[in-house]
Amino acid sequence: MSAMRLVILGRQGSGKGTQSVRIAETYGCIHVSTGDMLRAAVAEGTELGMAASAVMESGGLVSDEIMNGIVAERLAKPDIAAQGVLLDGFPRTADQADTLESILADLDQPLTLALNLDVPVDEVTRRMMARGRSDDTEEAIRRRLQLYEEQTAPLLEWFGRRGLLATVDGLGDEDEVFQRLQEAIESTNGRSTP
Ligand code: ADP
Repeated sequence: MSAMRLVILGRQGSGKGTQSVRIAETYGCIHVSTGDMLRAAVAEGTELGMAASAVMESGGLVSDEIMNGIVAERLAKPDIAAQGVLLDGFPRTADQADTLESILADLDQPLTLALNLDVPVDEVTRRMMARGRSDDTEEAIRRRLQLYEEQTAPLLEWFGRRGLLATVDGLGDEDEVFQRLQEAIESTNGRSTP
C-alpha cells in the first residue's frame, strides 16, 4: 500500500485520538496530532506553549497563523513523504483547510481521504464529562463543541465537494469502530483519483 495522507475529523470526544493511534500503527503512517503538539509545547514551556495555554484552557482555538506554521513545518519533514500522515486536529477552520491543500500541493503529496468519525453531540458530551481531563470543564466543553459546529463542521462539505470524504459511524465499541474505519480506508486506497 502506498503512503497515505489522511485527515480525521470528528467532534471532541468522538474517539478520534484513540482511533488515530490504531490507524497510524496499522498503516504505518505518522500520527500528527496538533492537540498533542500543543500540549507538549505547554509542558515544555516554549514560547508557543505559553501563547497557546490560556486559549486551550478556555476551549478556544489557537490562531490559524500559528497552527498553519506548525503543520507546514511538520509536513515538510522527510518521514512524512516516506510513510504518509494521519492528521488529527487539523484542519479545524476553512483557512486551515485551504492552507493544507496548498501545503500538500507544494509537496506533491495530495490528500488520500478525510475520515469523519460521526458521534452525536449528546454522546460526546457524556463521554467528555466522564473522562475528566483538566481542560474538560463544562464551560470549555460547551465552547469547544460550539466552535466545532461553527468552524469545523463546514469542512465536511469542503472535503465532500472534493470527493475526499468518508463518514464513519463512531458509535459502538472501539474494535467495531476501527473495523469501519479500516473498511473506509481500504475501499479508497488504490482507487485512482482524477
Ligand atoms: P479536542 O479534540 O478535545 O479539542 P485536541 O487535543 O484536538 O482536543 O486539541 C486541544 C486544544 O488545542 C483545542 O481545544 C484547541 O485549543 C487547540 N488546537 C488543537 N488543534 C488546533 C487547530 N488546528 N486550530 C486551533 N486550535 C487547535
